[in-house]
Order: sequence, then C-alpha cells, then structure tokens
Amino acid sequence: MKAHDGMYIGGEWRAAAGTDLIAVVDPADEQVIAHVPAGTAEDVDAAVSAAREALPAWAATPPAERAAKIAALRDVLVARKDEIAETVTAELGAPLPFSQKVHAGVPILVAGSYAELAASYAFEEKVGNSTVYAEPVGVVGAITPWNYPLHQIVAKVAPALAAGCTVVLKPAEDTPLTAQLFAEAVHEAAIPAGVFNLVTGLGPVAGQALAEHGGVDLVSFTGSTAVGKQIGATAGAAVKRVALELGGKSANVILPSADLAKAVGVGIANVMGNSGQTCSAWTRMLVHTSRYDEAVALAAEAAATYGDRIGPLVNAKQHARVRGYIEKGVAEGARLVAGGPEAPREQGYFVSPTVFADVTPEMTIAQEEIFGPVVSIIRYEDEDDALRIANGTVYGLAGAVWAGDDAEAVAFARRMDTGQVDINGGRFNPLAPFGGYKQSGVGRELGSHGLAEYLQTKSLQF
Ligand code: NAP
Ligand code: MG
Repeated sequence: MKAHDGMYIGGEWRAAAGTDLIAVVDPADEQVIAHVPAGTAEDVDAAVSAAREALPAWAATPPAERAAKIAALRDVLVARKDEIAETVTAELGAPLPFSQKVHAGVPILVAGSYAELAASYAFEEKVGNSTVYAEPVGVVGAITPWNYPLHQIVAKVAPALAAGCTVVLKPAEDTPLTAQLFAEAVHEAAIPAGVFNLVTGLGPVAGQALAEHGGVDLVSFTGSTAVGKQIGATAGAAVKRVALELGGKSANVILPSADLAKAVGVGIANVMGNSGQTCSAWTRMLVHTSRYDEAVALAAEAAATYGDRIGPLVNAKQHARVRGYIEKGVAEGARLVAGGPEAPREQGYFVSPTVFADVTPEMTIAQEEIFGPVVSIIRYEDEDDALRIANGTVYGLAGAVWAGDDAEAVAFARRMDTGQVDINGGRFNPLAPFGGYKQSGVGRELGSHGLAEYLQTKSLQF
C-alpha cells in the first residue's frame, strides 16, 4: 500500500523529526503492507505551532466559507470512496462491502452534515440586552482509535472545522494509512494550510505529547477507558476542555412482547458487524425467562451464518485478548452455544462468532468490554430485573429496546442510564448526539451537539 514517509503539517508533507517507523499490518494475512513514521514530541510541537498560526484566520473565516470548504472535503471523500474502503480493509481487515457501506459511507454522511450545520448554525444570538457569540475553542488535539478509523477522524475534524477550530490529529498506530488518505483529501479540498495537521505515532509518545501540549485548548479522545481517564486527569490539571468517547457494554433488551426473531437477528448482526469492534455494540442480550431458550437457539443459528462473512480482529494483541475473554467465560460457567476460543483459521487474527448462554450479570464477560464478536445472553425475571441488569455496569454508551409497540419500549429506554437507545430497530441517524453516560465518556459527538463541543461562549451587554 502507498504511504507517506512524513507528517502533514502546515499544508505540506514534512520529514519526521525522528527515524522510527510503524509497520502497518494486514490483519487478514498478518503481512506488513506499509510503514509510516512514528512521530515524537518534536513533530507534535511543530504541528501544534502550525495549528496555532492558522487559527486566527480560520476562526475569522465566515461560517458560510468554512461550510463550503467542508463540502469540498466531503466531495473529495465521495470521489475517493473506493480507495478509502480498500485502505480500511487493508489495515483494519473489515470485509470490503462493510468498508464501502460503513467505513467510507458514514464519514461522507457526517462530513455532509457538518457542511450544512456550519452554514445554518446560530453562532450568534440575542438574550435580553446581550449578544452571545459562539466562538471556536481554539486548537484541538484529536486522538482516535482504529475501529472506525475514518469515521472517528471525521466525527472530530468536521465539527472542529465547522466551529472555526484548527486541529492536530494523532490517529491509531494500527490504522495510519486511512488518516494519511484523509490528510490528502483535506489538501485536495484546499483547506488552508495549518487548519488540519497529522502526526502519526504511538499513543504513549505522540498521543501523550499532544494531550499534554500547552498549545492545545481542547483534547478530544476516543478509545479505551483506561487511557481516557489519564487524558481526562491531564486535561483537568491544566483546566483544559476535554471530550472523551470511551468504552461500552450495551444492553439489547428484548421485552416479552417483542418480535423475538427480529430482535435476536438484528442484535447478533449489530455485534458481528466490524467483528465486534464497536464501542456501542449491544454485547449483552437480555431476554425474559419465558422466551430464553427460544432466543438462545435463534442467536446460535444467526451467529453460525456469520462464520465466513466476518473479518479478523485488528491485531495480534486484540486476538489474544478476545480469545482470553472467551476462555474466561467458559471458566466462569457460561455455556457456549456458538463459536469458541479456538482460532478458526491458520492465518489472520480471526475469531469465530461466539454466543454464550447462561451468562449471569456479574460474570466478567457480562461486565467488561471484550471488543470482539462475542454476545452474552442473560436471563431476566421481570422488567425491574431487566433494568437493574441493563444499568448494572460502569458503562452507559448505547443500547436497544424491543417491544410490541414503541411506547412500551420508550418507557423502558427512558429508565436506562445510557446515551443512545435504538427503539425496535431504529436506524442510525448521523445528526443524533452520540456519547456516554457514566464511564462511557464525557461530551457528545455528531450533529449540533457535536458542534457545540468545539465552541465557547462570549456575551456582550448593551
Ligand atoms: P487505546 O490505547 O485507548 O487507543 C486509542 C488512541 O489513544 C490511539 O490513538 C492510541 O494510540 C492512543 N493512546 C494510547 N495511549 C495513549 C496515551 N498514554 N496518551 C495519549 N494517547 C494514547 O485503545 P487500544 O489499545 O487501541 O484498544 C484497547 C481497548 O480499548 C479495546 O479492546 C477496547 O475495549 C477499547 N477501545 C474502545 C474504542 C471506542 O470506540 N470506545 C475504540 C478502540 C478501543 P495507539 O494506537 O498507538 O495505541
Ligand atoms: Mg493502544
């Protein structure tokens, strides 16, 4: 695969300060497909300087002009859609149709939504004798994970640019090629030099340098709760804005009146997509005791059909980690009804679509984020029991509720401690705020709520 050997800083590809490289691996066959530079604090410093220098002019650019630039960026992403999908498939391992539809398709939708929002958002309002201005927070340090490599970049960069902020991005070490492609798209869209900058590198080196940099006004992070806590602490000590999009252990609550086959089928598909590497995946399926056995049979059958359609996990570490969780589930007494810990192929980081029955709420596989194709089916006795189980983790990112009618599902969803709930299979909405309750994070992404994260307010009194 084609890769740049430098960093995108100040509108050009510049040589990295150091000589260390990151090897990019195709998780489907474990072959090295490219190398990118491993950035250091020096590269981060150069990128933050470029972002600071570009900030006054970009912040002063009329929103309609910023909107036009984001629309141009969206158009480049559309034109390069196939290349994006191929790149994500090569470095993440997602099957190509999924890469085309989701990994390339969703960022195009999100970029388009911010082109519109930048043009229509009320950056100024009258409140009594005051005029209140929504002004950009400043320089944004964006740190993104590998699981939806382009989506997570666009979900931060597009609203930041719409708000008038400038950005330094440190993408995940496993998926830097998608980030380089995005930087090319920014360049092609003629977004002014320094408004977007890219430093590839390792989390504890380049990521940490960015999170700690005094020239960064807001850190927006998506990834593990462990790293998120550290970034939140650093930002807190510096009285710096922070947005954290962390892990999840979301519940798929199937009420007794639901269409069981549909609820189970969609629930399994929700987890198996992207090989279970989705922070908002409904990895706990909650089923009433009266329909439990039927649900288990349907889930096992649905998981089996995913056997050869599922991609690998991203890397060897995740492969070992997820299989370790499956072994732990067996050891703690859960019953395997599909899949298991054995690697299904000789080569590549594949895990079989796995379903556990007889999972109790306190088991490790019901509490911790596995980040693989593993569903735990938990039995409940009544609605209060279901609610207690649904809310019984440290997380609160997403969820689903299925019932005979929407009103019944809504009543249950309103009692859930979680940021997003799909009612009877509700569709993805790129304008709906996305983010977590409890330890799933701080702040919201997407739509106008996502834009507001990058704004601060100033009021003038007359
Ligand atoms: P991670 O380490 O939290 O990675 C997220 C991003 O943070 C990456 O760009 C990473 O760089 C960077 N990073 C790592 N350590 C850092 C530090 N000390 N300071 C600043 N930035 C740092 O997540 P991971 O290791 O890739 O995955 C581990 C687990 O996190 C997964 O199993 C899953 O449970 C969870 N996860 C959640 C999400 C989500 O969407 N909520 C996404 C990915 C992972 P490197 O790429 O170099 O590590
Ligand atoms: Mg990591």
